[in-house]
Amino acid sequence: QPSGRSGVLAGLDSDQARAAEAVDGPLLVIAGPGSGKTRMLTHRIAHLVLERGVPAGACLAVTFTRKATEELRARLAGLLGETAGAVAVHSFHSLGLAILHAHADRAGLAADFRIANEAERTTALAEALGVSDARAGRLLKAVSVLKRSGAQGTDEEAAARAVLDRIGRAQGWVDFDDLVLLSADLLDKDAEIAAAWQTRFPHIVADEFQDVDEQQYRLLRLLTGESGNFCVIGDPDQAIYGFRGADAACFTRFGRDFPAAATLRLARNYRSTGTIVTAASGFIGAPPAAPTRPMGEPIMTHAAASEAAEADFVAATIENLLGGHDMLAANRKGGEAPAGRPLGFADCAVLYRTDAQAAALRTAFDRAGIPFMKSSPAPIAGHPGVIAILEGLGTAAGPDLAARVGQAAEDARRAERTDAASLAEARGWLAVLAGSDQVAGDPARLAEAAALATEADFRDMRADRVSLMTMHAAKGLEFPVVFVVGMEAGLVPFSWGAATPEEEATQAEERRLFYVAMTRAKDRLFLTRAMERFWRGAVRALPASPFLKEIGADLMASDAGAGRKRKQAQQLNLF
Ligand code: ATP
Ligand code: MG
Repeated sequence: QPSGRSGVLAGLDSDQARAAEAVDGPLLVIAGPGSGKTRMLTHRIAHLVLERGVPAGACLAVTFTRKATEELRARLAGLLGETAGAVAVHSFHSLGLAILHAHADRAGLAADFRIANEAERTTALAEALGVSDARAGRLLKAVSVLKRSGAQGTDEEAAARAVLDRIGRAQGWVDFDDLVLLSADLLDKDAEIAAAWQTRFPHIVADEFQDVDEQQYRLLRLLTGESGNFCVIGDPDQAIYGFRGADAACFTRFGRDFPAAATLRLARNYRSTGTIVTAASGFIGAPPAAPTRPMGEPIMTHAAASEAAEADFVAATIENLLGGHDMLAANRKGGEAPAGRPLGFADCAVLYRTDAQAAALRTAFDRAGIPFMKSSPAPIAGHPGVIAILEGLGTAAGPDLAARVGQAAEDARRAERTDAASLAEARGWLAVLAGSDQVAGDPARLAEAAALATEADFRDMRADRVSLMTMHAAKGLEFPVVFVVGMEAGLVPFSWGAATPEEEATQAEERRLFYVAMTRAKDRLFLTRAMERFWRGAVRALPASPFLKEIGADLMASDAGAGRKRKQAQQLNLF
């Protein structure tokens, strides 16, 4: 159902176009995965700028991760060209940072405040309280939940929070949660500053709204002010950050704060094959979205003997889909992506529940010669080379910061402060950051940029590599081919055996997480498991994930393994 609109909105269906056009007043868009929510968001901004005369700089788009902001920028550039650069696209952290930088003094922070990484905060708390690092680490997590949710916590947690705040202010640092919390506090208490930001951004859109926590919501609410041109987009069935203090209650809060808000729904799925759409909506119990694509291939399941064999299966299947290893580079004869071009490595993603599962995949991919990139969620500031270099950098700002990074790396190498390989890696990242506008030659800002950046930010996004990432990190993304590995009770869902109400809430979140994972797939979905794996200190035989039984049997088929078949064939050839 094309929208029938001309101009920018021609690329939307009629429901999407209606949402994109509703630019006056509050709007809630609720729709399932792959229904074009993010596409609507970018077209809405392009419509505002190109067809309603709104300056690009007056539009603020907020999303969750840095990767998601990059995706938004790329999509906006496709619609707006160079003008896209003027649109304010932020993650919550970078938004908070921008506000605090502009008014550090009013926020009660040192002008050169920085963001302390987790290791530094853990050590500071352990020392102050005289407890172990492990205990301090647990307290740190609890404090993070308090800061995000606005809850009081136990006496011990509240005390830990007070201690951390005191040390942070004394030493001139804040943590990630503070970026949001303190900027919201600032706008709350200073009407003049709040008014200035509200005037700056008369149009605000928030993607992935289901995962917004109490403080993030508060910040957006304060930025919206009286204009009410606030559009939130999300899917309650994809809420996966309850453990960090988000609870999808933001939808209720939005409804309460903006009783006149219109609610629009998008009903068609453009991303996935009919099979994947039917399986996913059946699993989560959502009203089935109407697939726009044919049924396609069945969902493939595979049970491997071990974790290593599971990883080998993934590697062999990728080789097979891309047309066989030998001819990979020269001539791909494998499957085709929907656009009609040959499938590449970058069309494939492997999703897992825990980061530890990546190790077996790395080994298998290295052996098979398959290029991959692992998106580690950890900021590079925690990397030993980065610490060593930043320490040697001094505090003076200047245009030659990239050269000074090189010198500091060289000094650290001579002094053998850390190994040469880490230093070389860190030097490359920091040189890129040092040259960016955001850092502007200032070593304090460089440290900050390092605290926000992750390894994936430095990889060439156009490089042809398989993506390895956690299910959480895959939110909002899509790939023609998706493998969900480790389909075992204990991993998917992570904690098996619901007993207490809290555990039941966690179980519901685990279901949503698996739903997010399977709905990343456009064309092919593989669900694999290992009959035994190293798990919680021992090799264990984990039963199959109970979720597998909840997917319509008619939508699945089992795959004996292309790798195994080929090995057998090779053996036969030998005789
Ligand atoms: P998620 O909940 O997973 O974030 P989403 O609702 O944001 O999903 P999008 O990523 O915006 O979905 O869209 C999914 C895919 O469908 C994208 O590749 C998008 O370009 C495509 N798509 C969406 N709407 C249309 C449309 N009207 N015409 C053609 N393609 C579309
Ligand atoms: Mg989206």
